[in-house]
Amino acid sequence: MTLSSLVRSNADQILKSFGAKQNHRRPVDIETTAKSLGAEIVYKPMLCDGCLEEIARNRYLIKVNEKSNRLRQRFTIAHETAHIMLKLANRSGTLSSVEESFSEAVTLNNRSGEEEICNFVAASLLVPSQIAKQLSDWKSFSIEKIAKASRDWQVSISVLLWHVLTLARYEWGFMWFASSTKPEDPTDIGMKLSWGVFPRSSQIRIPKQAWLYASGHSPIDIAGNEERFYWKVKFDFDGLNGFRAIRVKAFGKGKEKKVLVVIYPKEFRPESMQSSRRLRQAILLQEK
Ligand SMILES: [Zn+2]
Repeated sequence: MTLSSLVRSNADQILKSFGAKQNHRRPVDIETTAKSLGAEIVYKPMLCDGCLEEIARNRYLIKVNEKSNRLRQRFTIAHETAHIMLKLANRSGTLSSVEESFSEAVTLNNRSGEEEICNFVAASLLVPSQIAKQLSDWKSFSIEKIAKASRDWQVSISVLLWHVLTLARYEWGFMWFASSTKPEDPTDIGMKLSWGVFPRSSQIRIPKQAWLYASGHSPIDIAGNEERFYWKVKFDFDGLNGFRAIRVKAFGKGKEKKVLVVIYPKEFRPESMQSSRRLRQAILLQEK
């Protein structure tokens, strides 16, 4: 069995194959997992989130930025643990097959380099793939469920969503918007794209500059803190032109408000959905 198929089916099995400890209790005790692979963990002031040092053969030091928030620290430990796992795989002569199987099995945006693999393995270590897979079914998908699972498993919503959409069928994406004043009118506050990703697509290019635009509505009204589903929303940017269904939910208040938009795959057929709203052309992403 290849490492990628193990990751996709069950991250626990990979760890077991390296003699590491992992449990199903949530949140995952990622520090114990790292230690069982020969890592020591230190928290210190740093300019980055963290790094890995090999202090002796098969003895590692994971340095973690003491100022990062706890979710970020947990992800850093998981990411560096994934590097240790790849080093172990390299020493046992299976690394090239690991990389090959990753590029075949999971289209990680055509970037199946070590950092991408480690991010994917890290997410799998923090949230078992079976859980992520359950969350990836579009009939039952909701941002609320993702948010709850991210609290239960102590990972950020973005890390969990990335993991979920990587394992989902077809090509989904998500985007975060944050409030910002418009350059042409400083009194006009809009929701500006901060970042987004379509984990399974290399065709869709997220614009560098985009605003959440809703004709006849304020984007803030569209994106209430209560989650909403819209089945027909127009997109207009490179690789994604036409209509898609979306879910939208805002987090936070006032200037701190962030809006999460999850874009369904084009294969999605919303007929079976109840209480869905039609918002044709009301939200348009404009590249400036
Ligand atoms: Zn790394």
